[in-house]
Amino acid sequence: MKEHNIAIVGATGLVGRNMLKTVEERNFPVGTIRLFASKKSAGSYLLFRGKRVLVEDLFSSNLNGTDIALFSAGSEVSKKIVPLFVHNGAVVIDNSSHFRLSPEVPLIVPEVNGDMIKKNRGIIANPNCSTIQLVLVLAPLHKRFKIKRVVVSTYQSVSGKGYKAVKELETQSKEFLETFHPYGSYDRTLYIRYRSKSSVFPYPIGFNLLPQIGTFGDNGYTLEEEKLIKETQKIIGSKLKITATAVRVPVFYSHSESVNIEFVHPFTIKGCKEILRSSPGVLLYEQNYPIPLYMYERDEVAVGRIRRDDSIPNGINLWIVTDNIRKGAALNAVQIAEELING
Ligand code: NAP
Repeated sequence: MKEHNIAIVGATGLVGRNMLKTVEERNFPVGTIRLFASKKSAGSYLLFRGKRVLVEDLFSSNLNGTDIALFSAGSEVSKKIVPLFVHNGAVVIDNSSHFRLSPEVPLIVPEVNGDMIKKNRGIIANPNCSTIQLVLVLAPLHKRFKIKRVVVSTYQSVSGKGYKAVKELETQSKEFLETFHPYGSYDRTLYIRYRSKSSVFPYPIGFNLLPQIGTFGDNGYTLEEEKLIKETQKIIGSKLKITATAVRVPVFYSHSESVNIEFVHPFTIKGCKEILRSSPGVLLYEQNYPIPLYMYERDEVAVGRIRRDDSIPNGINLWIVTDNIRKGAALNAVQIAEELING
């Protein structure tokens, strides 16, 4: 089998490390592998197939000789560096939001629209983590019953904001328990002290939840909600009516979503379950329901609590959970790379 020279940009981050692990676990045919991060991590090593691989400073290394580059270092880095890799002959699979809505860039979830990969002109975008798990469930149902409208509320783990956010929840949880006595009277000065220690999120995330992910736009929606709406429309169809509320919750890994769908055509719960049971990448919970702790490090998008919405003629409610670092980012990118090389 032909081997491919791979680069991972943002290799020391939560997503980058998982990309490296996923490339190894899935036996991707790797010729050489190069790892890039910021100056801060340059000179450190990560393990790949039992061997130490040097982490290079992205901004002072030559970028030649890569066939496929997996990017996961944020939008600013992608904006500056992705075109250089493409210029040097690589195909880039980019995890940032920078290119996702560009008309010439395919936005791919392989199980849903893998056939669009061949339309790439050097850049393929990986959707937002909350989009990936939503469209994997919506797409097969849309094909059969045609979706008229979707209302989604997300419950997103802190790891969606990277390593520093995981650390912030860990630290706050410990400190809060040391100073706050949940059975006694509530001392509000503790909250203020606690708030001043939040640097990643706008308010404390420990023992709390925040109905804000990203900055607010003029229309009152956050950036995360805009991404979820526009990316879903790009993948499923621009006429899809969809509204979203994105909430950050004090969970380390896995995002959950409560989804209400209105179909154009009549449906049965049995019919929906049959479709989801046979949809690639989907794990159907027939009786019980998926939870974030259980989905950690699993590949599937899990769906459960499927029930009719009796307030409208063709409505359904369901609950979706996925490991945001794995299928929500790293695994989806590696699956795109696999489809790319397998044609
Ligand atoms: P992270 O844990 O904070 O890691 C960020 C990575 O980017 C690190 O390797 C960091 O290197 C590198 N980096 C940052 N600035 C850089 C620079 N100027 N030059 C070179 N490298 C730089 O974040 P993450 O969770 O892995 O997320 C990374 C990207 O993936 C973001 O674009 C995010 O939006 C996207 N994404 C994340 C998720 C998720 O659920 N976490 C899902 C989908 C997409 P150092 O270690 O040297 O600082």
